[in-house]
Amino acid sequence: MKKIIIASNNQNKVEEIRNILKDFKFNIVSLKDENIDIEVEEDGKTFMENAFKKAYEIYKVREDCMVMADDSGLSVDILDGKPGIYSARFAGIHGDDKKNNEKLLSCLKGIPFEKRSAKFLCSIVLIVNNQKTIKVEGSIEGFITDKEIGHNGFGYDPLFYIPELKKTAAELTKDEKNSISHRAIALKNLCQEIRRLNWGE
Ligand code: IMP
Repeated sequence: MKKIIIASNNQNKVEEIRNILKDFKFNIVSLKDENIDIEVEEDGKTFMENAFKKAYEIYKVREDCMVMADDSGLSVDILDGKPGIYSARFAGIHGDDKKNNEKLLSCLKGIPFEKRSAKFLCSIVLIVNNQKTIKVEGSIEGFITDKEIGHNGFGYDPLFYIPELKKTAAELTKDEKNSISHRAIALKNLCQEIRRLNWGE
């Protein structure tokens, strides 16, 4: 069975990827499963550059396996795409969701709802071998609310209103979110590409 190392320490992400790729005969493992302790600096200019860098740094030490990495974040139109690649550390401290959300609300203060359009974006890179790399993207569109609504999810979810569902991402169940999220869409695009190229057998 072909092994895919997921270049992430986030166990939820590994589970989600395992679940979406379950129809293929892949053995999906995490960095922890493989005892890989490499911290990759995310200094690319785009989500795709960062995803490629994360995958390639691991692939360099494990060329016997396939390696997958993703990078994602929020892009707000009226803020020229910010927080973008700085989504995780918009307010300064990496992963401080509360402060990041406060900063986003203050950046959008006074801006009417219809001008608060935004997207969650996700880039995924799968390095198959020295000759083959798959790159895919996924996105979901919404609007930034003027206060936090909902308690599920993480990051900017309580501020991200999805008009089709009339809910914020933080009001969705885990399964609902995993079926419509930018990451889920990118992963579905990845599945299509693997099928098209016949690499999943
Ligand atoms: P990562 O690349 O998946 O680690 O995401 C980077 C940052 O983007 C996170 O720390 C969040 O602030 C934001 N982000 C990415 N995906 C989501 C999501 O599904 N919901 C809310 N915030 C997200």
